[in-house]
Amino acid sequence: MEKLMSRILAIANQKGGVGKTTTAVNLACALAQQGQRVLLVDLDPQGNATMGAGVEKRTAMPTAYQVLLGQADIHSSRLRSQRGGFDVVPANRELSGSEIDMVDIESREYRLKTELGRVAQEYDFVLVDCAPTLNLLTVNALAAAHAVLIPMQCEYYALEGLTDLVATIKKVKARLNPGIEIEGLLRVMYDPRSTLAQQVASELKSHFGDKVFDTVIPRNVRLAEAPSHGLPGVIYDPSSKGAQAYVALAREVLQRYGIAAGAMAE
Ligand code: ATP
Ligand code: MG
Repeated sequence: MEKLMSRILAIANQKGGVGKTTTAVNLACALAQQGQRVLLVDLDPQGNATMGAGVEKRTAMPTAYQVLLGQADIHSSRLRSQRGGFDVVPANRELSGSEIDMVDIESREYRLKTELGRVAQEYDFVLVDCAPTLNLLTVNALAAAHAVLIPMQCEYYALEGLTDLVATIKKVKARLNPGIEIEGLLRVMYDPRSTLAQQVASELKSHFGDKVFDTVIPRNVRLAEAPSHGLPGVIYDPSSKGAQAYVALAREVLQRYGIAAGAMAE
């Protein structure tokens, strides 16, 4: 099968705590298990994706901050998630200063795109974990991305929150990145026993159709425990329902791109 060029996916939702980082880390790991070369870029000063990949954020240097400011080469910023099987551009608190520190930089919305251009050919997938805001960092992710993956919880206000994000994506499409698409809405932390969750889940499907991933990520405590062990949930407890759902998601993503999924023997 024909080898596609690298796909850059921004994982975004300005709502906090909706499962962006859990999705970024576990999808990165599950794609790597399918033989894909994956780079995970942490664009959140919380550094949760960095830690979840098993990389120590406090001592990481250089980080995404230096890379975006042009003070470090993206090549040298990459660290390996040994157990996860993918590369990481780490982030920590320092990144919270980027909004102000990037003010004087030329084409500041394109800083990530420019830097990713230097390494993208080494990867099949680049996943960018965004912070829960629509700030300059998130705009950088959207300007660099081929597509956006939006994790959402199936709750009453879910659709309302989507409006701002979709408006931002439209602006980015008009001004910065005409090729950007919505890759898909991913239903996460799903509780099949909740009638409301069932209703919202099917409402999403009828509104957005094919844009909604068939795979649903259940609420699963093993996924929540994994980061404290510095492991993706997919590695921490491969038999858990949460891990299996992310493996299924990776297969669905590969299928969408027509890439043959081949599990790597390890
Ligand atoms: P932020 O907006 O702060 O960056 P986020 O959108 O990245 O948050 P996560 O950090 O992935 O969200 O998840 C929020 C919390 O929910 C975390 O404690 C995480 O472990 C937990 N969590 C995420 N997905 C699941 C799941 N499917 N089942 C159970 N817990 C989950
Ligand atoms: Mg996060």
